[in-house]
Amino acid sequence: MMINMTSTVPFAVYVHWPFCLSKCPYCDFNSHVRHGGVDEERFIHAFETEIAATAEHIGSRTVSSIFFGGGTPSLMQPQSVQAILDAIAKQWSIAPDIEITLEANPTSVEATRFRGYRAAGVNRVSLGVQALDDTALKELGRLHSAQEALDAVAGARSIFARYSFDLIYARPCQTAEQWSVELKRAIGEAAEHLSLYQLTIEPETPFAGLHAAGKLAMPDDDLARDLYDLTQGVCAEAGLPAYEISNHARPGAECRHNLIYWRGHEYAGVGPGAHGRLNIDGRRVATETFSIQQNPSGSVITSQFKTEEGVDKAVQNSELQLAPNGDIRKYEWKEQSPGKAQATVAPSNEYLMEHVSGAPDQKAPEDQPFLLPASTSVLDDYFFIHREVLVWRFMATACKQEKGEVQCPVNQKIQFGSMNPHQRSSQPLSVEFIGREKVNLKGADKELNKFVLHSEGGDWSLWLDDQFKLQRILVSVDNTEVIRD
Ligand code: SF4
Repeated sequence: MMINMTSTVPFAVYVHWPFCLSKCPYCDFNSHVRHGGVDEERFIHAFETEIAATAEHIGSRTVSSIFFGGGTPSLMQPQSVQAILDAIAKQWSIAPDIEITLEANPTSVEATRFRGYRAAGVNRVSLGVQALDDTALKELGRLHSAQEALDAVAGARSIFARYSFDLIYARPCQTAEQWSVELKRAIGEAAEHLSLYQLTIEPETPFAGLHAAGKLAMPDDDLARDLYDLTQGVCAEAGLPAYEISNHARPGAECRHNLIYWRGHEYAGVGPGAHGRLNIDGRRVATETFSIQQNPSGSVITSQFKTEEGVDKAVQNSELQLAPNGDIRKYEWKEQSPGKAQATVAPSNEYLMEHVSGAPDQKAPEDQPFLLPASTSVLDDYFFIHREVLVWRFMATACKQEKGEVQCPVNQKIQFGSMNPHQRSSQPLSVEFIGREKVNLKGADKELNKFVLHSEGGDWSLWLDDQFKLQRILVSVDNTEVIRD
């Protein structure tokens, strides 16, 4: 990796590796288990593309921290880590004192890769130890023993100048005395940094199910508070005060990446679950993130959009739940800022009912019936993804896949009813397949399927590949172009 001396304004890159060896029962992160292995080469190519696309948007920067998080990035081969670091260095300058952290599981297998990561440029590791007690580790679904974790910490100490490890406290049946002993032992092993997280029960995790069934004896609020106070006291006495909610360090040894977040500096997020905050054309823009989960009982499409401009922040989330035939089960839209508005659309008898609350000009929640069937498509003001759903519905109705290629009837328009809950309006719109066309995206020619979505507000063109992945959107009315990676 080339190192250049340029800007000193902190800028960080977070790289998200979304795979784990097994899913811990308390975890609601974007992390997945792949028993058949992961095509790392393909992922690396995607990371390189996303890094290049981000650089195209924001221009030059000097990177002062890179953080490989997950998931479990220590499942990556060192050469993959090297390739991602090279891709970052190809786009941006690298600060001479850059901090490059990699999160690692403390298993013996992963510890054998430490030297490879060091050679690639990683200079700090953060180990997911979670407990120094074998029974607790088992309950937390961890695959390592306490001794194995301590061996990995010793391995990290011998290879990296800086290392940290995580522990989870306020665990089921944990007493203050037990935690005090464990924490002091951990401080003895930690050089200068520890991350200490209270266990929380996250919705839709196995722990949430056990908790709801009364099978997980979590500390009550008073005990959780006592454990927190104890943590603060023991760490401060040992010279590791908290520098943010869950992270403790000797003064000067704080994780630089954490400081970039907490001080409101810019960071790029790359990878499937990564989030970024970037300054683009004078505006502070956050990444639009979305996920699509499809299973035999239907699909859930979630989207989040954030933008910041001066004090004008906008944060909106939406979730669209569809039945297998494409009918709406529920659409939920929430705005955290600037307002606190919330809208839910769901079928009520045969029709759709919108429940709106919290809009600034609204005194009481209100129900608005739409005389529209559940097969109506939702369009909202912000999220491109709902247009993509319309094209999928067109493809499901009219197209077939032959020899790996999508084949649709040309010049045939299919009409869909649509509603825009934010504008309290509904309108028919139609989707038309224009044909296959060569498109140059980021310097490479790709043969894509072009669709046009005709609506009263203007036409949108969408290009999808043969795997039904949206590649490009063009909104003719304001000439907005979006390239998806
Ligand atoms: S290793 Fe970490 S990211 Fe993976 S499932 Fe466990 S807690 Fe979640």
